[in-house]
Amino acid sequence: MIKKNDIILVGVVILLGLAVIIFMNVTKTEGSKVVVTIDGNVYNTFDLNEDTTFTINADNGEWNSFEIKDGHVDMVDASCPDKICVNHKDIHYNHETIVCLPNKVVLEVIDGEENEVDMIAN
Ligand SMILES: [Zn+2]
Repeated sequence: MIKKNDIILVGVVILLGLAVIIFMNVTKTEGSKVVVTIDGNVYNTFDLNEDTTFTINADNGEWNSFEIKDGHVDMVDASCPDKICVNHKDIHYNHETIVCLPNKVVLEVIDGEENEVDMIAN
């Protein structure tokens, strides 16, 4: 048998959950971007708040494909032989990078949230 207090408790828990979700969306860092650099030259800048998949085509025929989703950027595929960049975890903290050495491609997060773990370590 369900008691009235149980229903109230469930309602409170659901409301709290919704509040947390709304709070997280409101406090989501605005203006976070990822800078794509090829061989030291800035190729383009992408908004981390806009989900997209993009393939960088270098003049030498090499390519790197990355995905922006939920404020994170991840290298999903690339023409390089080592695939270190593809195996790299997704990034979203300020100054985090994914580097593709063979293709000389660098993805770097700017204007993002600071990585507190790094700040303490420094
Ligand atoms: Zn690579």
